[in-house]
Amino acid sequence: MNQSRIAQRVRRIKPSPSTAAADRANELRREGKSIVNLVIGEPDFDTPPSIRQAAAYAMEHGATRYTAMLGTLELRQAIVAKLARENGLTYAPTEIIATNGAKSAIYSALAATLEPGDEVIIPAPYWVSYPDMVLANDGTPVAVACPEHQGFKLTPAQLESAITPRTRWLLINSPSNPTGAAYSALEYRALAEVLARHPHVLVMTDDIYEHIRFDGRQTLHLLAVAPDLRDRTLAINGVSKTYAMTGWRIGWAAGPRDLIQALETLLSQSAGNCCAVSQAAAAAALNGDQGFVAECVAIYQERRDRTAQRINAIPGLSCAVPDGAFYLYVNCAGLIGKSARGGKRLATDGDVVMHLLESAGVAVVAGAAYGLSPYFRVSIATSIETLMEGMDRMARVVADLV
Ligand code: PLP
Repeated sequence: MNQSRIAQRVRRIKPSPSTAAADRANELRREGKSIVNLVIGEPDFDTPPSIRQAAAYAMEHGATRYTAMLGTLELRQAIVAKLARENGLTYAPTEIIATNGAKSAIYSALAATLEPGDEVIIPAPYWVSYPDMVLANDGTPVAVACPEHQGFKLTPAQLESAITPRTRWLLINSPSNPTGAAYSALEYRALAEVLARHPHVLVMTDDIYEHIRFDGRQTLHLLAVAPDLRDRTLAINGVSKTYAMTGWRIGWAAGPRDLIQALETLLSQSAGNCCAVSQAAAAAALNGDQGFVAECVAIYQERRDRTAQRINAIPGLSCAVPDGAFYLYVNCAGLIGKSARGGKRLATDGDVVMHLLESAGVAVVAGAAYGLSPYFRVSIATSIETLMEGMDRMARVVADLV
């Protein structure tokens, strides 16, 4: 490839490691290997029929043209109602922009605000895309390691020492991909106290897993605890994970008018508005019956419990039981230094993941991709049969290590 014709901003980023892991698993499957794919980061359910029908209706009734750049008023009103109903937050439709997935909202917000060298504080482990999105926009990702013994969450002391005059954003993802950790009111309040001393720091909350919460708990929004941060917070969310709508590509940002206007300007000169049919579908999802969400959460919870139990019974592996999202972040420190019989010594979580794939046909993603090792991520967005087969294989291969 002729690298010289590719811009620096692209050369300094890499394709998503979870996509790369999924591609490798599919390649092995095509070669005839039996693969248990525990990489997938999207619900294994179909979008509910009522939402698909609303989309079909919209398509037949005029949702075929450009929409307002912020998104249709119908969708933005549905988002306003959702934020009030579920989060106790008050927004006007002009303080919301619909985007091509939450991913585009986050990327565009960084593009609209970062000057070269501006810092973005990213608690690790983090969603793989955050650091690359910052790098692509000339910013500097500041990853702060949040180890397991602190629940994989950022402490106020860590936040205080990570903030510099160059800090532009703090990025919070609760519940988190990959750990499922969710912040409590107490934890948010303590972080908010630090932020109160640093008014130049903006806060981006990635709330995409908000509804995938276990044990009957509800996800609390930072702004519900610290409303004084409203003027410098951008709340990002979308319908992908909650309503099994990853392919429809609808996300949004809610925030102060100047930030929303900056996103509007940038997106009006780049992506344009997001798909009109998908906007109608997303409005139907937000306004409609929410029973589907509770059904999915119950299924994820059973998978979480059974899979965590199996993992914690494998000597050398352990995992904390996540508060939400659909992943388990598995500690594999107990396998580091072991060797496959007659084979290679496992020195990193990347080696562990490669060994699981090549010897057991189990595909997972190495913790290195998420900024905290030695771990690997198991997705539970797949059937219980697949998960149990994966656990059987994992137990066999791990027992064989010396
Ligand atoms: N944020 C996190 C933490 C995610 O894990 C994902 C998808 O994997 C997204 C955002 C992207 O969501 P969307 O499909 O709405 O772009």
